[in-house]
Amino acid sequence: MIVVMKKGATQDQVDHMVGRIEELGLKSHVIVGTERTVIAAIGEKREHIKGSLVTGSGVDDVVPILAPYKVASLEVKPEPTEVLAGSLRVGGGSLGIIGGPCSVEDEEQIIQTARAIKTAGATGLRGGAFKPRTSPYSFQGLKETGLKFLAAAREETGLAIVTEVMGTDDVELVSEYADVLQIGARNMQNYRLLEAVGNSPRAVLLKRGPSATIDELLLAAEYILNEGNPNVMLCERGIRTFESHTRFTLPLATVTYLHQKTHLPVVVDPSHGTGHSALVPDMAAAAVAVGADGLIIEVHPNPERAMSDGYQSLNFREFQETMDKCSRIADAVGKTIC
Ligand code: PEP
Ligand code: MN
Repeated sequence: MIVVMKKGATQDQVDHMVGRIEELGLKSHVIVGTERTVIAAIGEKREHIKGSLVTGSGVDDVVPILAPYKVASLEVKPEPTEVLAGSLRVGGGSLGIIGGPCSVEDEEQIIQTARAIKTAGATGLRGGAFKPRTSPYSFQGLKETGLKFLAAAREETGLAIVTEVMGTDDVELVSEYADVLQIGARNMQNYRLLEAVGNSPRAVLLKRGPSATIDELLLAAEYILNEGNPNVMLCERGIRTFESHTRFTLPLATVTYLHQKTHLPVVVDPSHGTGHSALVPDMAAAAVAVGADGLIIEVHPNPERAMSDGYQSLNFREFQETMDKCSRIADAVGKTIC
């Protein structure tokens, strides 16, 4: 249910309704909008609840939330959410650009990359220190050493750090170094991990599972929001289809669809979405054209020598050219890279 407060309802009236919702055994989420405040009352649907809430002082109406996800829904919060994390701004008219290698390999690699992507206009630095690899024999990441190198790159450039956290036990450690916790595609439905990052003070970039539906992605985001962390970005990174010319299939309609269903910002990953560096610049530009709120792009000083995902990584020159193209499109669609 959504308890819609009247325009000009007082804080006391809002607090009173929060108390009433909780007395009824429901969870409350207050969303202060530009027009009016609404309170989402989340829990099992029971007939008498609407009647008990609608008579509250300062209440305009009580309406059901139709979508299976609640706090993530546009029905609860019609204004787009803007996520701020260090130098990174994503959503609400800001286009966040996150670049960097698939894996942090050494200090020089990450600092060199941070400098180059910053010059090209990126606002966030990505790099995996904990790597989820299909094979247990592949490079698994530098772990805490990698996090330290990322922190050194932030010190040097001021770029916000986006890095993956793979397990609940690592959330505290990764939160010490990162500005944004990335939940990888393989972990999108790891519900205990989603709850753990929901309790972290850091923003979260939630990647879509390669075989997850959009509703499943939104319900995964709901786990994080429900714990009280409002700073969630959704990421379309491609899904598995019968097509084998690309590593995954990148459905850009996801961006438009999500904008019609949720207030959360949508980031596109054209690197994993295509798996070919030659396809990345155009897909990045297309994502901006359909209104993506952010891009996450793999960039490496020497992709040929990358320890993971080199075949889909751009070199510095290619990233600069991609940024030039994307910033022209951003201008055309009224987005600001900042
Ligand atoms: C990554 O960003 O390097 C990564 C492993 O992505 P995904 O979880 O989307 O496969
Ligand atoms: Mn990768």
